[in-house]
Amino acid sequence: AIPLVVAISTSVSAGKGLLIRNRTAFENARKITALVFDKTGTLTEGNFGVSRYESLSEDLSEQQLLAFAASLEQGSEHPIAQGIVKKAKEEKLDLHEVSQFEGLTGKGVQGEVDGESWKVVSPGYLEEKNISLPEKSQSDKAETIVFILRGEDLVGFVALADKVREDSLPAIKSLKKAGMKLFMATGDNDQTAKAVSEELGLDDYFSEVLPDEKVDIIKKLQKDGYFVAMTGDGVNDAPALAQANVGIAVGSGTDVAAETADIILVNSNPKDIAQLVRFGTATYKKMI
Ligand code: ADP
Ligand code: MG
Repeated sequence: AIPLVVAISTSVSAGKGLLIRNRTAFENARKITALVFDKTGTLTEGNFGVSRYESLSEDLSEQQLLAFAASLEQGSEHPIAQGIVKKAKEEKLDLHEVSQFEGLTGKGVQGEVDGESWKVVSPGYLEEKNISLPEKSQSDKAETIVFILRGEDLVGFVALADKVREDSLPAIKSLKKAGMKLFMATGDNDQTAKAVSEELGLDDYFSEVLPDEKVDIIKKLQKDGYFVAMTGDGVNDAPALAQANVGIAVGSGTDVAAETADIILVNSNPKDIAQLVRFGTATYKKMI
């Protein structure tokens, strides 16, 4: 039988934006010594707005470039994709029909328009293909930049910006006060990751992380003696959520992530984790 105090605490937590999937998770919450957050949609709002876009090809106008990017992104649920599609709609652009659509795990999307192959990809993807980053795409702002390829050619880029959630800083402060080491692991570029990490005062961050590399980050922290909780979304995060001592799937996450997780963070809000930690500790004290 579940001790009454745990049962009550569990349902109260559920009302506060957490679903606890097993009792062990709740008891483990008070043992957490390190937390690894994902960035987009958890520490940040996950609401990307397009700040600028530019064609690097003479035969493509700015608007045409955006239309191709948005056509591909219609097939993706990533917050970046939603930001690009929204912009194209605001600009009232006609989108193209895409065939052979495919997601490139942690790197972008690809598809065909009129028999030509198009991609919208991360800076990491360009580096992998030895394509140098265009100077025009660089800025000193914390922007998320994706690049558009037609065939093998780099034909443009789109820069987007997201905001740190209002609730993140108080939550981080509260978790720090509880003695935890706080980390962020993101697929986004180093500059943006650094800006968010510094704004929130995290202990460290990992940028341009591919989904399967998250498992190694968790393992490394565990080897260093930490009892690790991790937040994640998407199918790709499932292995890392399973590796973590406490796996926390964020609300917008897919079913696969949710099934692997111990806890579901319904509103993807870090303040509910701070709450959980305070609550887990208080409940434990009541039991002894
Ligand atoms: P995160 O969850 O930290 O945002 P992801 O693994 O989802 O990381 O994405 C990593 C990077 O891959 C993004 O910053 C972006 O550069 C690229 N990417 C992922 N999905 C898309 C997409 N639909 N369109 C364009 N780029 C994408
Ligand atoms: Mg993600």
